[in-house]
Order: sequence, then C-alpha cells, then structure tokens
Amino acid sequence: MPMPRFFAAACFCAALLAPSAAGVEGKWTPQQVLELDPAWLRQLGLQLPPERLWDPRRGAGLLSAAVNIGGCSAGFVSETGLILTNHHCLFSVLQEHSTPQRDLMTHGFLARSPEEELPGRTTRVTVPRRFTDVTKAVLEAVPAGATDLQRYEAIERRQKELVAECERQPGTRCRVAVFDGGVQYVLIESFELSDVRLVYAPPRAIGEFGGEIDNWMWPRHTGDFALARAYKDGKPYRPEFWLPISRDGVRPGDFVMVLGYPGRTVRSLTAAEMALQRDGFFALRARIYGEWIQLLEQATKGSRDGEIAVASTLKSLHNVVKNAQGQMAGLARGRILEKQAEQEKEVEAWAAQRPEWRPAIEARRELDRRAGERRRTMLRDFLFQSIPNGPIALRHATQLVRLAAERARPDMEREPDYMERELPRLRARLERDQKSFYRPADEALMRSWLRHALALPEGARIRAVDAAFRNAPLEQAVAQLYAGTKVTALEERMKMFGETVEQLRARRDPLLDFAFALEEELRAFDRAQKEHEGAASRLRPAWRRAVMAHAGRPMAPDANGTLRVSFAHVKGYSPREAVEYLPQTTLAGMLEKHTGEEPFALPKSLLEAAARVDPAQVPLNFLADADTTGGNSGSPTVNGRGELVGLNFDRVWENVANDFGYNPAIARNVNVDIRFFLWLLEHVDHADGLLKELGIRR
Ligand code: ASP
Repeated sequence: MPMPRFFAAACFCAALLAPSAAGVEGKWTPQQVLELDPAWLRQLGLQLPPERLWDPRRGAGLLSAAVNIGGCSAGFVSETGLILTNHHCLFSVLQEHSTPQRDLMTHGFLARSPEEELPGRTTRVTVPRRFTDVTKAVLEAVPAGATDLQRYEAIERRQKELVAECERQPGTRCRVAVFDGGVQYVLIESFELSDVRLVYAPPRAIGEFGGEIDNWMWPRHTGDFALARAYKDGKPYRPEFWLPISRDGVRPGDFVMVLGYPGRTVRSLTAAEMALQRDGFFALRARIYGEWIQLLEQATKGSRDGEIAVASTLKSLHNVVKNAQGQMAGLARGRILEKQAEQEKEVEAWAAQRPEWRPAIEARRELDRRAGERRRTMLRDFLFQSIPNGPIALRHATQLVRLAAERARPDMEREPDYMERELPRLRARLERDQKSFYRPADEALMRSWLRHALALPEGARIRAVDAAFRNAPLEQAVAQLYAGTKVTALEERMKMFGETVEQLRARRDPLLDFAFALEEELRAFDRAQKEHEGAASRLRPAWRRAVMAHAGRPMAPDANGTLRVSFAHVKGYSPREAVEYLPQTTLAGMLEKHTGEEPFALPKSLLEAAARVDPAQVPLNFLADADTTGGNSGSPTVNGRGELVGLNFDRVWENVANDFGYNPAIARNVNVDIRFFLWLLEHVDHADGLLKELGIRR
C-alpha cells in the first residue's frame, strides 16, 4: 500500500537546493525517499536512481543492506553474511566471552576460521522487507467515545493483531511503528536472524581510543568498528543486498548518505514537554546514573572478575551520562526550548486565523497541561523507568513476577513484552545477565535505588519501599535481601521463569516478595503511562498536522527506531568563536594523542605498523552534516554510488541536543573512515581471509 504523500515534490525549492551551504534536516523513511524530487537528490550528490535505494514492490533495495542489530545499526558487507557495525555495539559480546585469563575486551578478537566465531546469545539482526501504512486500520479500532485509556488499549490491541497476522510467515518479525505520536502508523515486516557471531573486534585501545574523554568529541581518532556474521540454518546467511567497499575515500564537500535505525528524537514535542524531558529524564539520568557509575567503579575495584562483569553496563552508563550532559548543555546553548516556544506562538497565530486549524491550539495546550501534571511525579516515575538499567536482581525479580501473572492470560491480552513471541528473548536475557552480575556492585546499586525512593516527596512515594525499608538500616536490609534471595542464582532463576504466581509466592523469597509488593504500584504507573499515551495519540497528531501545514515544506518524522536515510556532505564546523574544525583526521593525529596511558595507550602492533607508513596518509575519522542520533551507531555511511566509505559512530558535543532540534551550523556526525578499518585488517591484524571475503584481496 503506498504511503500518503506528506508533501508535494514541488515544494523542494531554493531553500533546500543549496547542498553545500547548509545541511539537510531529516531522517527520511524509505517511502519518503521515493517521494522526494529526484532532481534535488541528484543535485545533492545521489548518483543512483532513488528506486535503487528502495523498491516497495520487491520489499528490497540498497537500504535493505542496512540492518538493525540490537538497538544499533549495521550493514551487510559481503555475500557471506558479514556485518559491519561499531565496536561499542558488539562490546557486550566481547564481555560475554571474556574471562580474566582470556580478556577479549582488552585484546580484541579475530576468528581465524568460522569455528572460532563467538555467538552473541542475545544478539539479533533484522533485515527490513515491507512497510505498510496501517493508519486507517489502527484508528478504526478506536471506539467512539473511548476514554484515553480505552483508546490506548484499542490501538495496542489492533497493533498486536496486525503483528500476529504478519508474523505468520516463518522467520518474520513485525512491529507497528508510530510516527510523530500518531500522525501515521506503519506495519514493518522484517526478516529476523537470531544466530549472530562475532568475527572481529580490535583491542579496546583502538575500538575505544580516547575513551570517555573523547566520547562525543571532535577531533576524534577512534577505530569504532567490529565484524559479525549472521547465520541461517547453521550456514552463513546470504543477503540479497550488501554494500561494496570503496577505497576511493572521501574529501571535504563529498556527498554521503547515512543508512540506519535512529532510536528516538523529540522534535515533535511541545516546548513544555521538552522542558519535562530535560528535567525529568536527562537531568535525572545525569545525576542518578552518574552516581551509579561511581558505585560500580568502587564496588569492583581490585577484582578483575567484578570489572569484567560490570564492563558493559559501565560503558553504556558512561555513554548515557555524557549524552545527558550534552543534551542539557546543548539545550541551553542553542536556546532550543525558547525557539520552540517562539515557533509555537507563530503556529498558533496562524491557526487562529483558520477555523479548520483552530482545534490544534487547544490540543497543544492540553499537551502542555499534561506535562505540568507529570512533573509532580517525575522522580518517582524515573525510578520506575530506571529499573531495566539498575540493579539486575531487582529487574529480574520484577520481570519474573510480571511474567507469572501475564502467562496466566491469553496471549493477545498480555502486556506486549510478555507475549509468547517475546519469551525466548526474555529467557535468553535472564540467562545471559548472569555474566554481568557481581553481587557487591548490584547491592550498591540497589541501596542507591532504595535511597532515592526513600527520599521521594510526599504524594509521590512508593508504598512498597516505605513498608519494607523505611525503618531498616539500609546496608543491612539490602545485604539480607541478597543473602536470602535465589533470584540471583542462575539455575533457580531459570526455574522461576516457568513458575506460576502461586509457585513464586510459595517460595517465600524476600526479593520476590518485595517485587510482589511493588507490582501493584508498577501496574498503576503503567496504567497512567498508557492513559497519557492514549491522550497524546489524540492530541499530538492534531497539533503536528498544523505545524506541518504551517511550515509548508517536507518534514521527516521524529526518529522511532525505524529505517531512515540522512543525506549529507563531508564538512567541518566551528564549535565556538574563532575556531574552525577540519572534517578529517588521520593516523598521525592518533599517534600524537598516544601517551601510553589509558585511554590513549595504543597497542604495540599498531605502533609498529604505523612506523612503516606515513601516518598522515592513513585516514581515520571524518565528519559529515548528517542528521543522526543514538541508534545510528554502526550505520553504514555510503557515497553517491551506494558504496561504503565509512561507519557512523557518534555526534559532536555541540550537536548532542539535536534530538530536540536541528541546527545546520553544528549538525555533525562522526564516522570512521573505512580505509582505516582496511589498513588495520591488512597491516596490523593480517586478516587475509577477511580481506578476501570483503572483496579487497583476491
Ligand atoms: N554514539 C552514539 C550512540 O551511542 C551515536 C549517536 O548518538 O550519535 O548511539
């Protein structure tokens, strides 16, 4: 079914026709790419006909070489199922297989034969196949006069039906993606590959060169890449589309496209909602997760086992915290909320003159009013939402309790995360998490979580926490909880996975009992969230349509984890007055940063190879003005002919807040130059077999 035209091609006018002057906002959907003016795309630098990117009749095209790998993006790079993505996207597989005796995180990994490849127990890849506009089918499901909660439930139910129907085809994974809070619903059909094995990763000193100091920064010199292979029925998967590697490289001004799965942006929120997102989400992430980083570091000091266990968690917390700080700094620096509020005023003044758009004004005000209400419980809500990133034992206990209750219901009536289709994933996670569990660290996080809960203001307290911990010395109470529970013991936990509510209760496990006490409040929180989502699905489209009509130009929807393309050019920028950044770095800059001390301590093998070349001739990272966000990590960056020239892995500090609003002057994404990857394989790792597979060597 064709997607509705968001806009007429004719509106690609002069303002958008100056590719080298200003960046192009937009993470375009495959359907939108086909609706864009081909002449404009050619002018930007696309040398292929747009239908080569995506052919909806076949459900394939160059874009189907860009796959989703557990929240990151990746690209097929050989006909033998090799997938190139970021080192930080496959880091958890390295952690999964590391021991103090065989520390793959530190030393990297290269499988010299297929037998040596390392399975990622929870790693999955999805290859896109079909996008169908189901907006009408979804909205028809909402009964007249429905409350907001009923509205949410009706939409969710219809989504489940569409997904169930779609997944009747074997190996197929489907989802209904919501665009701009309900302007459009699209059924996405993908092909799922659940056997994914790590083939190659550089040592951490290269894959993460510069560590947290350089993260989200420019100039950059990081080899953030790794290779995996997808298998189907025990044999290497043969993708229909894969990206040939170009050795031509890039130069300033060159056209590139970034293909991938940007996770979440919030540009369609109102200014008041954005302020809530800043205060109730990013500020709390920075504060509480920042505290968790310190706790994890302290609790594992001196224990290599402990350090290995928390390595992956710690790495992602670091990334998230620095991101949250960047979001807040960028919001203030770019006056993004103020600009959004000014724009809202303009749209309202415009809508007030047009009776058909007047309801939009009321819709926005109600969204704002709701944001004001949600502020009152934001700390408590954040604590509930942080459970998946917090103490592993608490996460498991709450999941097991929820699972037991949900399992007793017919599949279609369960919470989506606990439907049969999700259980193999949940099971794999519950098992795999053991590798990341280190009791002293987990206890420290648990104490912190409880301490924050005990400090909540009146009116937003958590009764279950008060009842169990208000009058107890926390240190002791938590130690007892962990000493008494079996949730943290792998074998027992896997038994619990299959148990009923009665069986779990009969265990009299103190942590499960706490989770049972918490469950009622977690359910109430979920209900409130659903009610809010239901209201937003009614209000936001009304407001957004007015914004789009007022803009009178094409607008790409907010990121929502679905396949997108961003058109860009290789380009530097000015981070502050009197400073100009060039867009490319080389091995020479990496060597200059090398101090021998972490995170600037290069391995000997690299230093030796570097001594044999002119390092200024080995390109390393480059900037482009692509519109990207988290989730775009690992996105293939291709030239106008669709050949791989790099791999997106980051944004620059000044651009972190582009989740809220796009600013062409500082919108820069950071890519690894594919030539550095090849240089490393060739001259440092001597990975001849891989180079052959990649078509680089005969
Ligand atoms: N480095 C990022 C990530 O962690 C990519 C980005 O946000 O631009 O996903």
